[in-house]
Amino acid sequence: MKPGPFPPLAQATLALHAGTTDESDGAQVLNPLVPATSFFTKPEAVGFSANDMAEDTPFLYTRWNNPTNALLEERLAALEGGEAAVVFASGMAALSGLFLSQLKAGDHLVISSVCYAGLAEVAHDILPGLGIATTAVDTSNLEAVRAALRPETRLIHIETPGNPILRLSDIEALAAIAHAHGALLSVDSTMATPIATRPLALGADFVAHSLTKYACGHGDALGGAIIGKAQAMAALRKHALIHFGGAISPFAAWLILRGLETLSLRMAGHQAGAAAVAAYLEGHPRLRRVLWPGLPSHPQHALACRQMKNFSGMVSFSADDGPALARQLAERLQVISYAVSLGKTRSLLFYIPTEALIASSFHLDGDDARSYRDWTGDGTFRLSVGLEDPADLIADLERALAP
Ligand SMILES: *Cc1c(COP(=O)(O)O)cnc(C)c1O
Repeated sequence: MKPGPFPPLAQATLALHAGTTDESDGAQVLNPLVPATSFFTKPEAVGFSANDMAEDTPFLYTRWNNPTNALLEERLAALEGGEAAVVFASGMAALSGLFLSQLKAGDHLVISSVCYAGLAEVAHDILPGLGIATTAVDTSNLEAVRAALRPETRLIHIETPGNPILRLSDIEALAAIAHAHGALLSVDSTMATPIATRPLALGADFVAHSLTKYACGHGDALGGAIIGKAQAMAALRKHALIHFGGAISPFAAWLILRGLETLSLRMAGHQAGAAAVAAYLEGHPRLRRVLWPGLPSHPQHALACRQMKNFSGMVSFSADDGPALARQLAERLQVISYAVSLGKTRSLLFYIPTEALIASSFHLDGDDARSYRDWTGDGTFRLSVGLEDPADLIADLERALAP
């Protein structure tokens, strides 16, 4: 956009226009793709250390910042209603960078017991070795979260909806619990997207995204982001981006900017498709449980209605003979692809066996393991409903689920 001030704009407009771009006569009407790794500078313009970096430091080196990456940061901050953003090479680079810059030896982290498996493994397998204690709890249960807090708890991290079983956590309530304790709340909002939920407005301190998923939407770029207060984001840039080095390629950032332009339209399409597919699956005799936050049968449908303006396109279901059904679906599905990842224009389905995930990634025991097994049976089919005609998806599932 031309330099402001601007009237408040809706998300569909912000996704196309937010951020500073060159709008002089003859400039291109397109997000700039600047692949350069370094930029002309002057001896007095900038120091050589990231410690010398200030808000007005010009572009110097792409690991610090780059015009394409900066535009993506401005656009994400606008969509989330946050002051600033930092973009990374992947969702994991963003999340591990956030953890390692917020937590130090002696600190304690409370994390959703059900969240992205790679992050659960960082929390259980890597942080304790650095002296950072981790407690995984069912963050849909506020009492369990309160009970997990310790004097040294610095961060509560939740994912809502949580991957893969679409369990929700109440952002507003958890922000109040965190702040009353002097801790901060981070929310992985990858599955919700800013179209559904704006966690900062509900009190969260940080919003995290795997931009690889809905934000990009086309399945052709990896990226991650953290959005929050300007000062916190400047510290995160120095610590987690410049020093740990997980910078996004400007080309990936440019593809994600292109993807964001259609985010609100795509989310409307994903939600409509998921509504039709979830309603079909819910009546299917071969299945034991179908979960989608928009279904009245979802155990947290009331929270979904309060917290999500769009129920997103993720549907999860389970069957009594999961492994056998997984083989059958992988073989028979023609429109839906049997593949990992989510949030893409094309529909993707993947089967996640319960016991393997509990043992290797989530390390659940006791009540937590029981409640996870209760949600999933022997495994979860995670279906990312794409933008195909829902009637074709239903016909594909009908053929593939037949005895
Ligand atoms: C995919 C995903 C991540 C990890 O992101 P990458 O871009 O694959 O590194 C984190 N959180 C959620 C909820 C995800 O779906």
